[in-house]
Amino acid sequence: MTAWQVKGWCPGALRPMASGDGLIVRVRPPGGRLSPAQAEAIARAALAHGNGIIDLSARANLQLRGVTEASHGPLIADLRAHGLIDPDIETEQLRNLIVTPFRPASSYIDALTAVLTAALAQMPPLPGKFGFALDCGPRPVLSGASADIRVERAADGQLILRPDGYGLGRVVNDLAQDAVSLAQWFAASGGVTDGRGRMAALIGRGVVPPGCDTAPAQPLPQPLPQPAPGPHAEGVLVALAFGQMRAETLIALAALGHELRPTPWRMLFLAAATQIPAIAELVTDPAEPLLRVTACTGAPGCPQALGQTRTLARSLAALVPAGSVLHVSGCAKGCAHPGPADLTLIASPRGFGLVRGGTASDTPMQTGLSPADLPDLLKAPHAPPL
Ligand code: SF4
Repeated sequence: MTAWQVKGWCPGALRPMASGDGLIVRVRPPGGRLSPAQAEAIARAALAHGNGIIDLSARANLQLRGVTEASHGPLIADLRAHGLIDPDIETEQLRNLIVTPFRPASSYIDALTAVLTAALAQMPPLPGKFGFALDCGPRPVLSGASADIRVERAADGQLILRPDGYGLGRVVNDLAQDAVSLAQWFAASGGVTDGRGRMAALIGRGVVPPGCDTAPAQPLPQPLPQPAPGPHAEGVLVALAFGQMRAETLIALAALGHELRPTPWRMLFLAAATQIPAIAELVTDPAEPLLRVTACTGAPGCPQALGQTRTLARSLAALVPAGSVLHVSGCAKGCAHPGPADLTLIASPRGFGLVRGGTASDTPMQTGLSPADLPDLLKAPHAPPL
């Protein structure tokens, strides 16, 4: 039995999740984008009704922290006035859709996003964490992001729908119908148990999806490189340490006047921007050591945490070699980085456990480590187990 709680659903705005510092209210930007006015509205709502701290989630959403039972209603009213709230919890829960941020303004990808969003209403009952990724931009970038059905491109440019965990996809004829049909196949094939389940787990049981015979455009390197902050063809990517910012930072970003696209890398994409903004909290140097560490909220912000995470991760960042990733997790759930990392430290009641090349839920090769032990271990992150 795990020590941490598996909830099987993601928080939303209408169904927030309790945390150590109050309710977490997750805003899912419609179409994967925020106008400057919407971004400013979120920031001002975070100041008025929360503690002013905003997280970027691994599903490209924004989370407002420190909301109370009393302030939740007024918060929702403020966000609804800016078109940021779904009509009901069921609609909100289904809208697990990540869109590639690397797309021109008003592109065909926005049209596909609208088609897929509308199709969600036709989906069969799906698990709370079931999601979609529209990754059909100039280059695939979302293969490492959580999704169950992926819209990608084949080498000849045709759109394909690829079930997560399967190497091939089916050529899209009608995006809405085809996506609904694949989701129906998932449900009918035993993908849902007790309201939970993921596509990759179903595929992993040897169940073969029908009609999937077309490869995506390019084989994806493993582990997937994360896009670097800085200028890109379609705009500028800016990062935030641990994906967290103060509301004032979001207000300053909104004032630049660009559409903001949250990303699953806990960065924000400023569409059509050409200049790197000079805003205090932003990480814009690809060589910044903080980009090599990832850490969840940890104690005291998460009630399940068995130790502090971000202070430790900050203190160790400069020791992590370029190209490596250190994940510090407050418990074995590994929320901040579900996939493998070069080195993972997991808090436990008896110090930190250490996993090399695995995830927070793997069995640690060393346990009972104190923070004082860690710098020496990090100096040789690829060393064989001690
Ligand atoms: S991994 Fe971190 S954020 Fe997730 S439940 Fe554990 S302590 Fe909390």
